[in-house]
Amino acid sequence: MAETALPALVEALRRLPGVGVKSASRMAYHLLQHDREGAVRLAHALTHAVEGVRHCSLCHTFTEEAVCPTCRDPRRDRAKLCVVETPADQAAVERTQAYAGLYFVLMGRLSPLDGIGPRDIGLAKLFERATGGEVQEVILATNFTAEGEATAHVIGEALKQRGLQVTRLARGVPAGSELEYVDLGTIAHALVDRRSS
Ligand code: ZN
Repeated sequence: MAETALPALVEALRRLPGVGVKSASRMAYHLLQHDREGAVRLAHALTHAVEGVRHCSLCHTFTEEAVCPTCRDPRRDRAKLCVVETPADQAAVERTQAYAGLYFVLMGRLSPLDGIGPRDIGLAKLFERATGGEVQEVILATNFTAEGEATAHVIGEALKQRGLQVTRLARGVPAGSELEYVDLGTIAHALVDRRSS
């Protein structure tokens, strides 16, 4: 009978972003040779997360409940809605402690070449949320990459047509950069100096 367990493990690891066959093989050998206990923990953690983690019904970020802790927090300013691409970007904005409003996490960006359209990043839901009556200002904090800028433009125009105040993070965040990798001070500044879009 052909042996399949090891090739299947390598193939599964290879699906991770940035992991090729070589690194996937190294990871598989490492787990099986040096850290079987870690391998079992990893398998359990993956199953647990896949079964338990879903999207917040309000902001779309990952959560284990219907509504995430941030959206439930009564101290948050519900008049402000900050639009970010990923949970990592949201965490970057949170770390500045310069923002106390709520979020909408797109879980991506518009990318026509990759076939990612408005539906894939939940734009209908964002528009519904933004125009629900509570939100007065939408802050566009998508990344300063070409796709992030294009996404901000599309969202900004649509929301302005619906009569909302729309602002964009100020320049100072280097062009081409992703918020996740920008230092806290720069993001905090860009938030304070945000300008009308
Ligand atoms: Zn939420």
